[in-house]
Amino acid sequence: MPTLPCPTCQKPVEWSPAAKWRPFCSERCRLIDLGAWMSEQRSIPGEGAPDSDEAAGGGSDEGNADEAQLRRH
Ligand SMILES: [Zn+2]
Repeated sequence: MPTLPCPTCQKPVEWSPAAKWRPFCSERCRLIDLGAWMSEQRSIPGEGAPDSDEAAGGGSDEGNADEAQLRRH
């Protein structure tokens, strides 16, 4: 069975129909490569970081939803 190095971690990957994530060795390496590609495309540091989750919080989101519902009725 021929093998190719995983583009992310260089681990040999069997080049067979059973290799679900080829040319990557796993979904994890596929996502890592995809993430690297996307971050290169964006190249905006600090934007869309998980930090905004804590800062903005679900609280403000829920509040907005409630307001919208009240206005509708
Ligand atoms: Zn890999």
